[in-house]
Amino acid sequence: MGKVHLQDNDTTEKKTEFSLVRAKDTWRRKLGKNVNKDTVDCVSAAKIYEVVTVKDTTWTVVCPIVFTYKVTETQDLLDPNNDTLLLGHISDPQQLEEIKKSNKSLQRFIVVDQEVYKIYGPKLTEYLETNNVLYKILALPTTEENKSMDMVLKILEEINNFPLDRRTDPIIAIGGGVCLDIVGLAASLYRRRTPYIRIPTTLLSYIDASVGAKTGVNFANCKNKLGAYIPPTAAFLDLSFLQTLSRRHISNGLAEMLKMALVKHRGLFELLEKHGRMLLDTKFQAHNSGYGQNLLQTASQATHIAITTMLEELAPNLWEDDLNRLVDFGHLISPALEMKVLPSLLHGEAVNIDMSYMVYVSKERGLLSEEEKQRIIRCMVGMELPVWNKECTMELIQASLQDRLKHSGGLVRMPLPVGLGQAEIFNNTSYEILHSAYEKWCDELNVSSGSNCDP
Ligand code: NAD
Repeated sequence: MGKVHLQDNDTTEKKTEFSLVRAKDTWRRKLGKNVNKDTVDCVSAAKIYEVVTVKDTTWTVVCPIVFTYKVTETQDLLDPNNDTLLLGHISDPQQLEEIKKSNKSLQRFIVVDQEVYKIYGPKLTEYLETNNVLYKILALPTTEENKSMDMVLKILEEINNFPLDRRTDPIIAIGGGVCLDIVGLAASLYRRRTPYIRIPTTLLSYIDASVGAKTGVNFANCKNKLGAYIPPTAAFLDLSFLQTLSRRHISNGLAEMLKMALVKHRGLFELLEKHGRMLLDTKFQAHNSGYGQNLLQTASQATHIAITTMLEELAPNLWEDDLNRLVDFGHLISPALEMKVLPSLLHGEAVNIDMSYMVYVSKERGLLSEEEKQRIIRCMVGMELPVWNKECTMELIQASLQDRLKHSGGLVRMPLPVGLGQAEIFNNTSYEILHSAYEKWCDELNVSSGSNCDP
Protein backbone atom coordinates (compact mmCIF):
# COMPACT_ATOMS: atom_id res chain seq x y z
CA MET A 1 0.00 0.00 0.00
CA GLY A 2 1.61 3.27 -1.11
CA LYS A 3 1.60 6.49 0.92
CA VAL A 4 -1.59 8.54 0.52
CA HIS A 5 -0.98 12.07 -0.79
CA LEU A 6 -3.52 14.79 -0.08
CA GLN A 7 -3.63 18.37 -1.32
CA ASP A 8 -3.38 21.22 1.25
CA ASN A 9 -6.94 22.31 0.63
CA ASP A 10 -8.30 18.76 0.78
CA THR A 11 -10.60 18.26 3.77
CA THR A 12 -11.42 14.63 3.11
CA GLU A 13 -10.09 11.73 5.15
CA LYS A 14 -8.57 8.60 3.66
CA LYS A 15 -9.53 5.63 5.81
CA THR A 16 -7.91 2.25 5.35
CA GLU A 17 -8.49 -1.00 7.20
CA PHE A 18 -5.64 -3.46 7.57
CA SER A 19 -5.60 -7.04 8.72
CA LEU A 20 -2.45 -8.43 10.32
CA VAL A 21 -0.86 -11.61 9.05
CA ARG A 22 2.24 -13.53 9.98
CA ALA A 23 4.52 -15.22 7.46
CA LYS A 24 7.94 -16.60 8.38
CA ASP A 25 8.07 -14.94 11.82
CA THR A 26 7.18 -11.48 10.55
CA TRP A 27 3.89 -9.69 11.05
CA ARG A 28 2.66 -7.50 8.20
CA ARG A 29 -0.35 -5.36 7.41
CA LYS A 30 -2.61 -6.63 4.61
CA LEU A 31 -5.09 -4.30 3.06
CA GLY A 32 -8.70 -5.10 3.78
CA LYS A 33 -10.78 -7.34 6.00
CA ASN A 34 -10.48 -10.58 4.11
CA VAL A 35 -7.21 -12.42 3.86
CA ASN A 36 -6.46 -15.64 2.02
CA LYS A 37 -5.47 -17.82 4.96
CA ASP A 38 -3.71 -20.36 2.72
CA THR A 39 -0.94 -17.90 1.86
CA VAL A 40 0.06 -17.00 5.44
CA ASP A 41 0.94 -18.79 8.68
CA CYS A 42 -1.47 -16.93 10.88
CA VAL A 43 -4.10 -14.18 10.76
CA SER A 44 -4.47 -12.04 13.89
CA ALA A 45 -7.83 -11.00 15.30
CA ALA A 46 -6.30 -7.51 15.66
CA LYS A 47 -6.83 -4.79 13.06
CA ILE A 48 -5.16 -1.49 12.28
CA TYR A 49 -7.26 1.36 10.91
CA GLU A 50 -5.31 4.18 9.28
CA VAL A 51 -6.85 7.60 8.81
CA VAL A 52 -4.93 10.20 6.83
CA THR A 53 -5.95 13.84 6.59
CA VAL A 54 -3.95 16.72 5.20
CA LYS A 55 -2.70 17.52 8.72
CA ASP A 56 -2.15 14.20 10.41
CA THR A 57 -2.17 10.43 10.29
CA THR A 58 -3.81 8.30 12.99
CA TRP A 59 -3.49 4.58 13.42
CA THR A 60 -6.24 3.02 15.53
CA VAL A 61 -5.41 -0.42 16.88
CA VAL A 62 -8.29 -2.75 17.70
CA CYS A 63 -6.99 -5.72 19.58
CA PRO A 64 -9.51 -8.14 21.08
CA ILE A 65 -7.98 -9.66 24.19
CA VAL A 66 -9.49 -12.89 25.44
CA PHE A 67 -9.32 -13.90 29.09
CA THR A 68 -9.92 -17.53 29.92
CA TYR A 69 -10.24 -18.66 33.51
CA LYS A 70 -11.69 -21.59 35.38
CA VAL A 71 -13.72 -21.66 38.56
CA THR A 72 -13.76 -25.19 39.98
CA GLU A 73 -15.71 -26.40 43.00
CA THR A 74 -13.79 -29.38 44.29
CA GLN A 75 -13.14 -31.46 47.42
CA ASP A 76 -10.05 -32.42 49.42
CA LEU A 77 -7.89 -29.78 47.73
CA LEU A 78 -5.03 -30.38 50.20
CA ASP A 79 -5.10 -34.16 49.89
CA PRO A 80 -1.61 -34.96 48.52
CA ASN A 81 -3.20 -37.32 45.98
CA ASN A 82 -5.27 -34.51 44.49
CA ASP A 83 -3.27 -32.62 41.84
CA THR A 84 -5.86 -29.87 41.28
CA LEU A 85 -3.90 -27.27 43.25
CA LEU A 86 -0.80 -27.81 41.12
CA LEU A 87 -2.20 -28.72 37.71
CA GLY A 88 -5.91 -27.96 37.69
CA HIS A 89 -5.39 -24.68 35.82
CA ILE A 90 -3.93 -26.42 32.76
CA SER A 91 -6.48 -27.10 30.03
CA ASP A 92 -4.21 -28.37 27.27
CA PRO A 93 -4.07 -32.20 27.59
CA GLN A 94 -0.72 -32.38 25.80
CA GLN A 95 0.90 -29.86 28.14
CA LEU A 96 -0.54 -31.72 31.11
CA GLU A 97 0.81 -35.02 29.84
CA GLU A 98 4.28 -33.52 29.34
CA ILE A 99 4.39 -32.09 32.87
CA LYS A 100 3.23 -35.37 34.37
CA LYS A 101 5.84 -37.35 32.42
CA SER A 102 8.74 -35.03 33.22
CA ASN A 103 10.55 -35.58 36.50
CA LYS A 104 11.17 -31.88 37.02
CA SER A 105 9.98 -30.42 40.33
CA LEU A 106 7.18 -27.89 40.03
CA GLN A 107 7.81 -24.45 41.55
CA ARG A 108 5.14 -22.55 43.43
CA PHE A 109 5.14 -19.25 45.29
CA ILE A 110 2.27 -19.24 47.77
CA VAL A 111 0.86 -16.36 49.80
CA VAL A 112 -1.38 -17.41 52.69
CA ASP A 113 -3.41 -15.41 55.16
CA GLN A 114 -1.52 -15.69 58.47
CA GLU A 115 -4.53 -17.01 60.41
CA VAL A 116 -5.31 -19.55 57.71
CA TYR A 117 -1.66 -20.63 57.79
CA LYS A 118 -1.89 -21.31 61.53
CA ILE A 119 -4.65 -23.83 60.84
CA TYR A 120 -3.79 -25.26 57.42
CA GLY A 121 0.00 -24.64 57.30
CA PRO A 122 1.02 -28.21 58.26
CA LYS A 123 -1.40 -29.74 55.74
CA LEU A 124 -0.24 -27.40 53.00
CA THR A 125 3.42 -28.09 53.71
CA GLU A 126 2.81 -31.84 53.71
CA TYR A 127 0.98 -31.50 50.39
CA LEU A 128 3.87 -29.63 48.78
CA GLU A 129 6.56 -31.92 50.24
CA THR A 130 4.75 -35.07 49.16
CA ASN A 131 4.41 -33.70 45.65
CA ASN A 132 8.08 -32.75 45.55
CA VAL A 133 7.37 -29.08 44.89
CA LEU A 134 10.04 -26.40 45.17
CA TYR A 135 8.06 -23.85 47.15
CA LYS A 136 8.03 -20.70 49.21
CA ILE A 137 5.14 -20.01 51.56
CA LEU A 138 4.65 -16.42 52.61
CA ALA A 139 2.21 -16.14 55.52
CA LEU A 140 0.99 -12.56 55.97
CA PRO A 141 -1.49 -10.65 58.15
CA THR A 142 -3.79 -9.86 55.22
CA THR A 143 -6.38 -7.86 57.14
CA GLU A 144 -8.61 -5.08 55.79
CA GLU A 145 -6.44 -2.51 57.65
CA ASN A 146 -3.34 -3.92 55.92
CA LYS A 147 -4.96 -4.03 52.49
CA SER A 148 -2.53 -1.53 51.03
CA MET A 149 0.14 -0.98 48.43
CA ASP A 150 2.77 -1.58 51.16
CA MET A 151 1.56 -5.16 51.44
CA VAL A 152 1.61 -5.55 47.65
CA LEU A 153 5.22 -4.33 47.52
CA LYS A 154 6.23 -6.64 50.33
CA ILE A 155 4.85 -9.59 48.36
CA LEU A 156 6.54 -8.40 45.15
CA GLU A 157 9.93 -8.23 46.85
CA GLU A 158 9.60 -11.82 47.98
CA ILE A 159 8.37 -12.97 44.57
CA ASN A 160 11.37 -11.29 43.03
CA ASN A 161 13.68 -13.38 45.22
CA PHE A 162 12.03 -16.62 44.11
CA PRO A 163 13.08 -18.37 40.87
CA LEU A 164 9.62 -18.04 39.34
CA ASP A 165 8.97 -18.76 35.68
CA ARG A 166 6.18 -16.39 34.74
CA ARG A 167 4.95 -18.72 31.97
CA THR A 168 4.63 -21.89 33.98
CA ASP A 169 4.52 -21.10 37.70
CA PRO A 170 1.30 -19.40 38.77
CA ILE A 171 1.39 -17.59 42.09
CA ILE A 172 -1.09 -19.12 44.54
CA ALA A 173 -3.17 -17.06 47.00
CA ILE A 174 -4.89 -18.85 49.89
CA GLY A 175 -7.18 -16.90 52.20
CA GLY A 176 -10.19 -14.63 52.39
CA GLY A 177 -11.13 -11.84 50.00
CA VAL A 178 -8.48 -9.51 51.38
CA CYS A 179 -5.63 -11.92 50.71
CA LEU A 180 -6.96 -12.83 47.25
CA ASP A 181 -7.39 -9.17 46.26
CA ILE A 182 -3.88 -8.16 47.41
CA VAL A 183 -2.11 -11.11 45.81
CA GLY A 184 -4.12 -10.70 42.61
CA LEU A 185 -2.89 -7.13 42.33
CA ALA A 186 0.72 -8.12 43.06
CA ALA A 187 0.53 -10.82 40.36
CA SER A 188 -1.00 -8.36 37.89
CA LEU A 189 1.94 -6.01 38.46
CA TYR A 190 4.77 -8.52 38.48
CA ARG A 191 6.35 -8.54 35.04
CA ARG A 192 3.20 -6.76 33.88
CA ARG A 193 1.03 -9.88 34.36
CA THR A 194 1.90 -13.13 36.05
CA PRO A 195 -0.74 -15.87 36.24
CA TYR A 196 -2.22 -16.53 39.66
CA ILE A 197 -4.59 -18.96 41.34
CA ARG A 198 -7.18 -18.15 43.99
CA ILE A 199 -8.03 -20.51 46.84
CA PRO A 200 -10.82 -18.90 48.89
CA THR A 201 -11.11 -19.89 52.53
CA THR A 202 -14.06 -17.69 53.56
CA LEU A 203 -17.65 -17.97 52.34
CA LEU A 204 -17.56 -14.42 51.02
CA SER A 205 -14.52 -15.05 48.90
CA TYR A 206 -15.88 -18.47 47.84
CA ILE A 207 -18.93 -17.04 46.14
CA ASP A 208 -17.74 -13.54 45.30
CA ALA A 209 -14.08 -12.46 45.39
CA SER A 210 -12.92 -15.69 43.66
CA VAL A 211 -15.34 -15.63 40.84
CA GLY A 212 -14.57 -12.39 39.01
CA ALA A 213 -11.61 -10.47 37.66
CA LYS A 214 -11.13 -7.69 40.19
CA THR A 215 -8.07 -7.23 42.36
CA GLY A 216 -7.29 -4.27 44.58
CA VAL A 217 -6.13 -2.51 47.72
CA ASN A 218 -7.45 0.43 49.72
CA PHE A 219 -5.93 3.82 48.99
CA ALA A 220 -6.51 7.42 50.16
CA ASN A 221 -9.05 6.10 52.67
CA CYS A 222 -11.14 4.57 49.86
CA LYS A 223 -12.02 0.91 49.41
CA ASN A 224 -10.20 -0.79 46.56
CA LYS A 225 -9.20 2.49 44.95
CA LEU A 226 -6.10 0.90 43.37
CA GLY A 227 -6.55 -2.32 41.45
CA ALA A 228 -6.71 -4.16 38.17
CA TYR A 229 -9.21 -6.19 36.19
CA ILE A 230 -7.03 -9.24 35.72
CA PRO A 231 -8.76 -12.56 36.42
CA PRO A 232 -6.88 -15.49 37.91
CA THR A 233 -5.94 -18.44 35.75
CA ALA A 234 -8.13 -20.51 38.01
CA ALA A 235 -10.01 -20.44 41.29
CA PHE A 236 -10.27 -23.71 43.22
CA LEU A 237 -13.10 -23.78 45.72
CA ASP A 238 -13.21 -26.28 48.59
CA LEU A 239 -16.05 -25.85 51.09
CA SER A 240 -14.18 -27.74 53.81
CA PHE A 241 -12.10 -24.61 54.58
CA LEU A 242 -15.25 -23.04 55.98
CA GLN A 243 -15.40 -25.44 58.93
CA THR A 244 -12.82 -23.36 60.81
CA LEU A 245 -14.33 -20.01 59.92
CA SER A 246 -16.07 -18.04 62.68
CA ARG A 247 -19.87 -17.95 62.74
CA ARG A 248 -19.78 -14.21 62.11
CA HIS A 249 -17.78 -14.67 58.92
CA ILE A 250 -20.19 -17.34 57.65
CA SER A 251 -23.01 -14.87 58.23
CA ASN A 252 -20.89 -12.22 56.47
CA GLY A 253 -20.63 -14.41 53.35
CA LEU A 254 -24.34 -15.18 53.42
CA ALA A 255 -24.94 -11.46 52.81
CA GLU A 256 -23.32 -11.63 49.34
CA MET A 257 -25.26 -14.82 48.64
CA LEU A 258 -28.47 -13.05 49.63
CA LYS A 259 -27.53 -10.21 47.29
CA MET A 260 -27.55 -12.57 44.30
CA ALA A 261 -30.82 -14.09 45.53
CA LEU A 262 -32.52 -10.69 45.81
CA VAL A 263 -31.43 -9.37 42.43
CA LYS A 264 -31.61 -12.53 40.34
CA HIS A 265 -32.95 -15.72 41.87
CA ARG A 266 -36.16 -16.16 43.81
CA GLY A 267 -35.37 -19.86 44.34
CA LEU A 268 -32.13 -18.96 46.11
CA PHE A 269 -34.00 -16.43 48.25
CA GLU A 270 -36.53 -19.08 49.29
CA LEU A 271 -33.71 -21.50 50.02
CA LEU A 272 -31.98 -18.96 52.27
CA GLU A 273 -35.27 -18.00 53.87
CA LYS A 274 -35.89 -21.65 54.75
CA HIS A 275 -32.39 -23.00 55.32
CA GLY A 276 -30.16 -19.94 55.89
CA ARG A 277 -30.00 -20.62 59.61
CA MET A 278 -29.06 -24.26 59.06
CA LEU A 279 -26.25 -23.22 56.69
CA LEU A 280 -25.02 -20.79 59.33
CA ASP A 281 -25.22 -23.36 62.15
CA THR A 282 -23.41 -26.05 60.19
CA LYS A 283 -20.94 -23.80 58.31
CA PHE A 284 -21.94 -25.66 55.13
CA GLN A 285 -20.41 -28.91 56.54
CA ALA A 286 -22.44 -32.11 56.37
CA HIS A 287 -20.36 -34.27 58.70
CA ASN A 288 -21.42 -34.33 62.37
CA SER A 289 -24.22 -31.89 61.63
CA GLY A 290 -27.09 -34.35 61.96
CA TYR A 291 -28.59 -32.92 58.75
CA GLY A 292 -26.64 -35.33 56.50
CA GLN A 293 -27.65 -35.57 52.86
CA ASN A 294 -30.21 -32.78 53.11
CA LEU A 295 -27.56 -30.30 54.17
CA LEU A 296 -25.10 -31.47 51.56
CA GLN A 297 -27.70 -30.90 48.87
CA THR A 298 -28.79 -27.51 50.21
CA ALA A 299 -25.22 -26.26 50.66
CA SER A 300 -24.17 -27.30 47.18
CA GLN A 301 -27.36 -25.91 45.63
CA ALA A 302 -26.81 -22.56 47.37
CA THR A 303 -23.17 -22.18 46.34
CA HIS A 304 -23.89 -23.44 42.83
CA ILE A 305 -26.66 -20.86 42.25
CA ALA A 306 -24.65 -18.07 43.85
CA ILE A 307 -21.61 -18.78 41.65
CA THR A 308 -23.49 -19.26 38.39
CA THR A 309 -25.65 -16.15 38.84
CA MET A 310 -22.52 -14.16 39.70
CA LEU A 311 -20.68 -15.48 36.63
CA GLU A 312 -23.67 -14.60 34.42
CA GLU A 313 -23.40 -10.98 35.51
CA LEU A 314 -19.60 -10.75 35.51
CA ALA A 315 -18.47 -12.67 32.40
CA PRO A 316 -20.06 -10.32 29.82
CA ASN A 317 -18.81 -7.27 31.72
CA LEU A 318 -15.44 -8.33 33.11
CA TRP A 319 -13.97 -4.83 32.95
CA GLU A 320 -17.18 -3.16 34.13
CA ASP A 321 -17.48 -1.08 30.95
CA ASP A 322 -21.24 -1.30 31.33
CA LEU A 323 -21.99 0.74 34.44
CA ASN A 324 -25.50 -0.71 34.82
CA ARG A 325 -24.58 -3.55 37.14
CA LEU A 326 -27.11 -5.44 39.23
CA VAL A 327 -24.28 -6.83 41.36
CA ASP A 328 -23.76 -3.29 42.68
CA PHE A 329 -26.85 -3.84 44.83
CA GLY A 330 -25.69 -3.28 48.41
CA HIS A 331 -22.55 -1.51 47.19
CA LEU A 332 -23.70 2.10 46.82
CA ILE A 333 -23.45 3.19 50.44
CA SER A 334 -21.54 0.29 51.99
CA PRO A 335 -18.01 1.26 50.80
CA ALA A 336 -18.17 4.61 52.66
CA LEU A 337 -19.86 3.00 55.67
CA GLU A 338 -17.26 0.21 55.81
CA MET A 339 -14.35 2.66 55.68
CA LYS A 340 -15.98 4.95 58.23
CA VAL A 341 -16.41 2.29 60.91
CA LEU A 342 -13.42 0.06 60.07
CA PRO A 343 -12.84 -2.48 61.59
CA SER A 344 -16.14 -2.80 63.39
CA LEU A 345 -18.21 -3.88 60.35
CA LEU A 346 -17.21 -6.66 58.00
CA HIS A 347 -17.63 -6.21 54.24
CA GLY A 348 -20.75 -8.39 53.95
CA GLU A 349 -22.27 -6.75 57.04
CA ALA A 350 -21.86 -3.29 55.53
CA VAL A 351 -23.32 -4.61 52.26
CA ASN A 352 -26.29 -6.01 54.18
CA ILE A 353 -26.99 -2.69 55.92
CA ASP A 354 -26.95 -1.01 52.50
CA MET A 355 -29.31 -3.70 51.09
CA SER A 356 -31.62 -3.38 54.08
CA TYR A 357 -31.98 0.37 53.52
CA MET A 358 -32.49 -0.12 49.75
CA VAL A 359 -35.27 -2.61 50.48
CA TYR A 360 -37.04 0.24 52.30
CA VAL A 361 -36.41 2.49 49.28
CA SER A 362 -37.95 -0.17 47.04
CA LYS A 363 -40.96 -0.45 49.32
CA GLU A 364 -41.31 3.33 49.39
CA ARG A 365 -41.27 3.40 45.57
CA GLY A 366 -43.96 0.71 45.43
CA LEU A 367 -41.58 -1.89 43.97
CA LEU A 368 -41.91 -4.25 46.95
CA SER A 369 -44.96 -5.05 49.04
CA GLU A 370 -44.90 -4.68 52.83
CA GLU A 371 -44.97 -8.46 53.13
CA GLU A 372 -42.01 -8.90 50.74
CA LYS A 373 -40.06 -6.25 52.64
CA GLN A 374 -40.74 -8.01 55.94
CA ARG A 375 -39.72 -11.39 54.48
CA ILE A 376 -36.38 -10.00 53.29
CA ILE A 377 -35.60 -8.32 56.60
CA ARG A 378 -36.61 -11.46 58.52
CA CYS A 379 -34.31 -13.54 56.31
CA MET A 380 -31.41 -11.15 57.02
CA VAL A 381 -32.01 -11.22 60.76
CA GLY A 382 -32.36 -15.03 60.67
CA MET A 383 -28.86 -15.21 59.19
CA GLU A 384 -27.60 -12.92 61.99
CA LEU A 385 -26.84 -10.03 59.66
CA PRO A 386 -27.05 -6.43 60.87
CA VAL A 387 -29.95 -4.58 59.22
CA TRP A 388 -29.27 -1.11 60.62
CA ASN A 389 -26.30 0.94 61.78
CA LYS A 390 -26.21 4.32 63.45
CA GLU A 391 -23.25 5.43 61.33
CA CYS A 392 -25.33 4.98 58.20
CA THR A 393 -26.77 8.48 58.37
CA MET A 394 -28.77 10.38 55.76
CA GLU A 395 -25.66 12.53 55.21
CA LEU A 396 -23.56 9.46 54.46
CA ILE A 397 -26.24 8.13 52.11
CA GLN A 398 -26.42 11.42 50.23
CA ALA A 399 -22.63 11.79 50.03
CA SER A 400 -22.34 8.22 48.70
CA LEU A 401 -24.96 8.83 46.03
CA GLN A 402 -23.25 12.10 45.04
CA ASP A 403 -19.97 10.24 44.73
CA ARG A 404 -21.70 7.62 42.64
CA LEU A 405 -23.06 10.30 40.28
CA LYS A 406 -19.54 11.60 39.83
CA HIS A 407 -18.02 8.23 38.98
CA SER A 408 -20.88 6.63 37.14
CA GLY A 409 -21.35 8.84 34.10
CA GLY A 410 -23.70 11.30 35.79
CA LEU A 411 -26.32 8.69 36.69
CA VAL A 412 -26.85 7.11 40.08
CA ARG A 413 -27.66 3.64 38.60
CA MET A 414 -29.35 2.33 41.71
CA PRO A 415 -30.24 -1.38 41.59
CA LEU A 416 -33.50 -1.96 43.49
CA PRO A 417 -35.47 -5.17 44.05
CA VAL A 418 -38.75 -5.29 42.16
CA GLY A 419 -40.45 -8.22 43.84
CA LEU A 420 -38.53 -11.17 45.22
CA GLY A 421 -35.61 -12.44 43.14
CA GLN A 422 -35.45 -9.70 40.55
CA ALA A 423 -34.15 -6.17 40.35
CA GLU A 424 -33.89 -3.25 37.98
CA ILE A 425 -31.66 -0.20 37.79
CA PHE A 426 -33.21 3.20 38.59
CA ASN A 427 -31.83 6.70 38.07
CA ASN A 428 -34.71 8.75 39.36
CA THR A 429 -35.21 8.13 43.07
CA SER A 430 -36.18 11.46 44.60
CA TYR A 431 -34.77 12.91 47.80
CA GLU A 432 -38.27 12.68 49.32
CA ILE A 433 -38.37 8.91 48.72
CA LEU A 434 -34.82 8.45 50.04
CA HIS A 435 -35.67 10.46 53.13
CA SER A 436 -39.01 8.87 53.97
CA ALA A 437 -37.47 5.41 53.41
CA TYR A 438 -34.69 6.42 55.79
CA GLU A 439 -37.10 7.56 58.50
CA LYS A 440 -39.11 4.32 58.30
CA TRP A 441 -35.91 2.28 58.20
CA CYS A 442 -34.70 3.96 61.41
CA ASP A 443 -38.11 3.76 63.10
CA GLU A 444 -38.56 0.09 62.41
CA LEU A 445 -35.05 -1.32 62.61
CA ASN A 446 -33.17 0.83 65.10
CA VAL A 447 -33.61 -1.63 67.93
CA SER A 448 -31.56 0.47 70.35
CA SER A 449 -34.03 3.33 70.11
CA GLY A 450 -37.00 1.05 70.76
CA SER A 451 -37.82 -0.42 67.35
CA ASN A 452 -41.47 -1.17 66.70
CA CYS A 453 -40.58 -3.73 64.06
CA ASP A 454 -40.27 -7.36 64.99
CA PRO A 455 -38.49 -8.90 62.06
P1 NAD B 1 -10.95 -11.54 55.10
O1 NAD B 1 -10.11 -11.84 53.93
O2 NAD B 1 -10.54 -10.41 55.98
O3 NAD B 1 -11.08 -12.85 55.99
C1 NAD B 1 -11.87 -12.82 57.14
C2 NAD B 1 -11.16 -13.37 58.38
O4 NAD B 1 -11.25 -14.77 58.37
C3 NAD B 1 -9.69 -13.04 58.51
O5 NAD B 1 -9.44 -12.73 59.84
C4 NAD B 1 -9.00 -14.33 58.13
O6 NAD B 1 -7.78 -14.45 58.82
C5 NAD B 1 -9.97 -15.36 58.61
N1 NAD B 1 -10.03 -16.61 57.86
C6 NAD B 1 -10.05 -16.76 56.52
N2 NAD B 1 -10.28 -18.03 56.21
C7 NAD B 1 -10.39 -18.72 57.34
C8 NAD B 1 -10.64 -20.08 57.65
N3 NAD B 1 -10.88 -20.98 56.70
N4 NAD B 1 -10.69 -20.44 58.95
C9 NAD B 1 -10.51 -19.52 59.92
N5 NAD B 1 -10.29 -18.23 59.70
C10 NAD B 1 -10.24 -17.82 58.42
O7 NAD B 1 -12.46 -11.19 54.67
P2 NAD B 1 -13.44 -11.69 53.50
O8 NAD B 1 -14.78 -11.42 54.03
O9 NAD B 1 -13.11 -13.04 52.99
O10 NAD B 1 -13.13 -10.68 52.31
C11 NAD B 1 -13.45 -9.32 52.37
C12 NAD B 1 -12.65 -8.60 51.31
O11 NAD B 1 -12.99 -9.12 50.03
C13 NAD B 1 -12.92 -7.10 51.24
O12 NAD B 1 -11.68 -6.43 51.27
C14 NAD B 1 -13.60 -6.89 49.91
O13 NAD B 1 -13.26 -5.65 49.32
C15 NAD B 1 -13.08 -8.05 49.10
N6 NAD B 1 -13.96 -8.46 48.01
C16 NAD B 1 -13.43 -8.53 46.77
C17 NAD B 1 -14.24 -8.91 45.71
C18 NAD B 1 -13.67 -9.02 44.33
O14 NAD B 1 -14.41 -9.16 43.37
N7 NAD B 1 -12.37 -8.99 44.16
C19 NAD B 1 -15.58 -9.22 45.92
C20 NAD B 1 -16.09 -9.14 47.22
C21 NAD B 1 -15.26 -8.76 48.27
